Amino acid sequence: MKVIVFDLDDTLYKEIDFLKSAYREMAENLGRPEMYDYMLRLYRDGDNAFKCAIEKYHLPVTIEQLLEIYRTHKPHIALDDAARTTLATLMSRSIVLGLMTDGRSVTQRNKIEALGLGHWIGNEDILVSEEFGCGKPDERCYRYFMDKRPNARHYYVGDNLSKDFVMANKLGWTTMCLLDDGRNIFKQDFTIETQYLPKYKINTLKEILNLI
Ligand SMILES: [Mg+2]
Repeated sequence: MKVIVFDLDDTLYKEIDFLKSAYREMAENLGRPEMYDYMLRLYRDGDNAFKCAIEKYHLPVTIEQLLEIYRTHKPHIALDDAARTTLATLMSRSIVLGLMTDGRSVTQRNKIEALGLGHWIGNEDILVSEEFGCGKPDERCYRYFMDKRPNARHYYVGDNLSKDFVMANKLGWTTMCLLDDGRNIFKQDFTIETQYLPKYKINTLKEILNLI
């Protein structure tokens, strides 16, 4: 038996799409549609988009309230063809699919719902750090999946070199890193200690199908 566990953000979909969805929601909720482009430009320039937008448009909200919208809105995000094809093919090969993601429950669950991941992944194979009580690279996250199916081969697919692969490598999982196509929120730096590196680097999720 094989179990393949995926990271969520910048692995199964691009987190920048979540950010855009949140900015659009804010702009529409506050009746300032032109604010969307402005905030996106600020974000790309590394400025504080919330603070600047409140000042420029004299918005009757606080940074904390915008952050709350960011975290709790129902995002308009979707799986792309590569992700959809890969999940469908893995499922057709009777490979068990799992998800391990760090973040707040409400935020990550809204993403999971919007992406329709429940179609591919059983709820008991979805681990969200806030609900679980710890996050990557804590050994307990990986043990959760190993304890359920002790005789399976485990694989992890992620994008974050600082936390996604180090414990998986140590526990004997096969690790794969989806390379940044230029859209990732966090940049990848492969000049780190070898235990943090993935076994495979892939340019598209479809490459998994040849590696598993
Ligand atoms: Mg990620």
